[in-house]
Amino acid sequence: MIQHKVIVGLEIHVQLCTRSKMFCGCAVEFGAQANSRVCPVCLGMPGVLPVMNKRAFEYAVLVGLALNCEIPSFTKWDRKSYYYPDLPKNYQISQYDLPLAKNGFIEIPLPGGKSDSVQTKRIGIIRAHLEEDAGKNVHTAWNFSQVDLNRTGTPLLEIVTQPDMNGGAETRTLAAELQRIVRYLGVSEGDMQKGHIRFEPNINLIITKDGREFKTPIVEVKNLNSFRALERSIDYEEQRQLEEFLETGAVLEMGNKSTRGWDDEREATVLQREKEEAHDYRYFPEPDLVPVELTDAWLEEIRGRLCELPLARQTRYVREFKLGEYDASVLTSERSTAEFFEAAVKAGGEAKRVCNLLTQTGLKLANEKGCGVSDLGVTPQNVAQLAEMVGSATISATSSTAIFEAMVQSESGKAPDVLAEELNLIQKSDAGELEKIVEQVLAENAQAVADVTSGGKKSNKARGFLLGQVMQKTKGQANPKVVSEILGRRLG
Ligand code: ZN
Ligand code: MN
Repeated sequence: MIQHKVIVGLEIHVQLCTRSKMFCGCAVEFGAQANSRVCPVCLGMPGVLPVMNKRAFEYAVLVGLALNCEIPSFTKWDRKSYYYPDLPKNYQISQYDLPLAKNGFIEIPLPGGKSDSVQTKRIGIIRAHLEEDAGKNVHTAWNFSQVDLNRTGTPLLEIVTQPDMNGGAETRTLAAELQRIVRYLGVSEGDMQKGHIRFEPNINLIITKDGREFKTPIVEVKNLNSFRALERSIDYEEQRQLEEFLETGAVLEMGNKSTRGWDDEREATVLQREKEEAHDYRYFPEPDLVPVELTDAWLEEIRGRLCELPLARQTRYVREFKLGEYDASVLTSERSTAEFFEAAVKAGGEAKRVCNLLTQTGLKLANEKGCGVSDLGVTPQNVAQLAEMVGSATISATSSTAIFEAMVQSESGKAPDVLAEELNLIQKSDAGELEKIVEQVLAENAQAVADVTSGGKKSNKARGFLLGQVMQKTKGQANPKVVSEILGRRLG
């Protein structure tokens, strides 16, 4: 009898969205002409002096606070030596033994929460520290490689979790939650396409065989830049390591950790380095930078910039607005969407209806335009009014989509009631008026009436037919609920 459990710890590198780089004044800019955003400092010329970007430090502390970390009052910089073409200085300024944040945790949502709460799991955070990014090797020239140093010196926040995840899906959830947090805090754009977040999972298995426990050698998968690759590489490793153990019986020992890469096309991890030795990075304190002393006043000032975090907000939406877990997670995925939703509810929109309008129409339109819901040019007040019109059956739910689209298209910022009139989408709910039309339809369709009243097999179908006739006569503008009521009353 063999059982196994997969154990995953994650290292995450997040690019902070400061205007200038970590230790010089060069702009942090994606997509600029190669080597146009560089200076002697980030090029690592001899004799230059780095100066710490205060905002980057504050952003990093803010994330540390959001991850419930201890924030020491004293932290320092270290040199991590390595030679690589994209790092012309031959060392990276990083933090070694005194990171700016440690011993924290993050709650992640688990699938299958109850209707009134969100099920969560706590993942430990070992540490978070600041460092500088390296440049980029470019391999598009036909027979040589090039290097673009624009990215060199970009502030990077490295976050290291405890090995608390038990699978690809769970690790993906953690990664997505971290992305949501850094975006909420406004410290990173968190754009995966631009490489703002990179993952390096450490994966191994605990295998129970004949009552004995075995651990497989740890594999680190390097440099993953999508959620999908992260999840798939872990799932792949789970199978691969199980098979390898059954074949060779190899277990975890000192020095048999290996490094693998992810091949997106083959959907497989590929061995890069076997028997990785403890790297001798020859860390030593950075002599060109003074340590950072974080006073209580400064720390409190940074703490003041915390906002309600996405999971707390999601949980509150389930509790306070009685929204489903899925809806709550969609609405809280972006801070601006959540704020728009709450503004519309505040303006009098019923929460569930506002939610439907935003998740079923608003987000789709925003997606098409490549912007957020709050940038569609529609006010929360107008969405609240639209929700109210659906609620009072002034318009049908189907028409609300057309009106929402018209609101986005109309440059004039027309209110939904005006657009409903213009588009002829106001439902007829006037019972007296509809009564006359029903009467007419009944008179014209004696056979269908007979089918309904006889109560036989054809009864329901005939009832639907009569309703359809009324809708047709009113060009779809009759409130079907009111018509059904009248038909019910007339035909019993
Ligand atoms: Zn520079
Ligand atoms: Mn790092």
